[in-house]
Amino acid sequence: MLKSLEVSGFKSFAKKTELNFKSQITAIVGPNGSGKSNVAESFRFVLGEQSMKSMRGKRGEDMIWNGSTDVSKSNRANVKIVLDNTNNFFSALQSTSVKKEAKSGGDFEEVIIERTVNRDGSNEYYLNGSTVRLKDVIELLAQAHIGASGHHIISQGEADRILSANTKERKEMIEDALGLKIYQYKREESERKLSKTEENIKQVESLRCEIAPHIKFLKKQVEKVEKAEELRTKLVSFYREYLKREKVYLESERSQIESEQKPLKEKLERLEKEMEEAKEILSKSSKKDEKSQEIIEIENKIKNEREEKDRLYREAGKIEGEINANQRIIEKIRFDQRSEENKTIPLKELENLESELSIYTEVSKIIEKIREFISKHKASTAHNNLDELISINQKLENQRKEVEEKIGSTDNTLNKLNFEYQKIKDSVEKEKDSSREAEKNIFRVSSERSEAQSKFDILNEKMHRLSIEEDDWKREIQEGGVLLGTAIIGFENDVLDEGFHFAEATRDELRRELEKMKIRLEELGGAGGAEMTKEYRETVERDEFLQKELEDLKKSAESLEILINELLEKLDIEFKQGIEKINKTFHEFFVLMFGGGNAQLKLIKNFKLKIKNLPEDEIGEMPEEKEPEDGIEITVSLPRKNIRGLDMLSGGERALTSIALLFAISQVNPPPFIILDETDAALDEANSKKYGDMIENLSKVSQLILITHNRETMSRAGVIYGITMGRDGVSRLLSIAFDEAVAVAK
Ligand code: ATP
Repeated sequence: MLKSLEVSGFKSFAKKTELNFKSQITAIVGPNGSGKSNVAESFRFVLGEQSMKSMRGKRGEDMIWNGSTDVSKSNRANVKIVLDNTNNFFSALQSTSVKKEAKSGGDFEEVIIERTVNRDGSNEYYLNGSTVRLKDVIELLAQAHIGASGHHIISQGEADRILSANTKERKEMIEDALGLKIYQYKREESERKLSKTEENIKQVESLRCEIAPHIKFLKKQVEKVEKAEELRTKLVSFYREYLKREKVYLESERSQIESEQKPLKEKLERLEKEMEEAKEILSKSSKKDEKSQEIIEIENKIKNEREEKDRLYREAGKIEGEINANQRIIEKIRFDQRSEENKTIPLKELENLESELSIYTEVSKIIEKIREFISKHKASTAHNNLDELISINQKLENQRKEVEEKIGSTDNTLNKLNFEYQKIKDSVEKEKDSSREAEKNIFRVSSERSEAQSKFDILNEKMHRLSIEEDDWKREIQEGGVLLGTAIIGFENDVLDEGFHFAEATRDELRRELEKMKIRLEELGGAGGAEMTKEYRETVERDEFLQKELEDLKKSAESLEILINELLEKLDIEFKQGIEKINKTFHEFFVLMFGGGNAQLKLIKNFKLKIKNLPEDEIGEMPEEKEPEDGIEITVSLPRKNIRGLDMLSGGERALTSIALLFAISQVNPPPFIILDETDAALDEANSKKYGDMIENLSKVSQLILITHNRETMSRAGVIYGITMGRDGVSRLLSIAFDEAVAVAK
């Protein structure tokens, strides 16, 4: 089964050394310190031993040839064992990574396990030349009942290790020997996985717990966002319609006001003109004073002219009187001259005349005076004055003509003045009329104007209010843009319901509704909605993922628990069965060794005291709890001796007992090889013989490598290797015959 061992650079084996194990029993002999135990340790090493202490070292480096005066130190230690697998002992290979690494499929005739340690402490493992993990090596060996506890490698001085171990350790060693370690590994691995899984479950659960309020919060937010979105959509169409309606309303209002303003403006302009005209007229009539001055002047002129005329008339009358008087005198004179009887002056005629012409009153007076004058001077002057009188009359006649002419011209002047007077008078009258008309007009125009103006003012006010509303509307568009983005663009082209009319009440209502919606939207805080929804979706997805993961984890925890229980059950059953088998052989070997007596393994439960972990605030009395722990107890009774317990055995008795037990264990699930390093050291000759018998018995099921100084033991070996160490500190191997061996061992 074990074909060979090759050590190179391992401890004292500086050079590559190969040991072949062709015999079932191989003895390794040699003087103290030659390197025999190093061979046993090289087995431990290659089989994956992790405890440096069990190989008498502190670190990996201690396993490497450290050099001597003659041979320089190695960089690495390498050990390789070759195991025969023709009987498919390592069937498990087929399911390990070795198969995966194998160049050709199918079974392997040889299994080569190799380990290298480098000076930096790093290790490499190989199975049939392929790099593998330590785990793969251990799993593979466990299949062949070569466990890590090394129950099949008994180091020097450790012959009674199984006896001196505590019950728990003993149980482990037996489990290992029974090949149950593989289940233990699997159980431990499953437990590790389970606790990792439980840890993960806790983590996932706590993550979900952490997420839960966030999801709740996000859900609320998303609901809000959705509400906001709904509201936003509603608001968009509402807004558009409102803006459009408002536009139509504002435009129609504007054109309405403008159409009302236009005629009013025209009217006002017209009235202004009329007012100006009327004022102009009034300002002209203020020149009336100048006219009245003119009238007075003309009236004065007329008065003067009339007086002149009167005076001229009087002058003419006087001249006429004089002429007439003179004429009468002339005629009297002439008459006198012709006839004296007619001395009287026809006064009667004159008197008659007097009544006809008042103007002649004066003349009559003059005539009276002339009569007196004539009566006085009638006789004396009659003759002398005639000619003179005629000439006077002629002169008077001329004067009269002159005066009459003057009267004529005065009449002309008067006529002219009168005409002018009348003209001015008429014009004054006319002006008076038009100014009265103008005043009336001013009154009318100003009342009309103030009426029109107030209407105009009202319209202006309306227009002012309208432009404020237009500004509001523009602001509303901007605000809509800010609030709803591009969604409100192009509202101008929207079609309104037929017969749309924007009643003021409806308008106010719409505006109020719009404001309400805006406030609601603002309250819902629509901003960042997309991210919020995304985050919500992602968080929910994450939660669902976690939930699924949790389910998976719980499922795998469940199946791990089932597996662990199955393994435990299997372990329990197989262990109990194994103990039964061991006990049977143990007893046989024991009886064989001691010629009687009794030895038994017992499965016991120890109760270990365990201090409970208390929460920090409960420090005080430390309650203890008992934790059951399985273990193996050994009971022995020697023939004819009252022995109670292992402690009472002698060194040789202990060695024999432990050998009996080891052999018994090995019989149940025989390992491919067993290495015993001076296990026989304490035996006397008689017991050495019994030991030799047992070895032979044992060698039927396992190969034996025996490091020994014992002659009896050597005698049972098929092959004996002698190990020597020269001055260079390097162990050397030589195959020797029995006699030689006896000599070498000494
Ligand atoms: P004994 O019969 O007394 O038990 P042994 O034959 O079993 O002796 P070992 O204990 O195997 O002898 O060998 C010990 C020798 O190996 C020592 O001389 C020690 O110096 C040597 N040795 C151990 N480790 C190293 C190492 N890393 N490099 C070189 N030599 C080493």
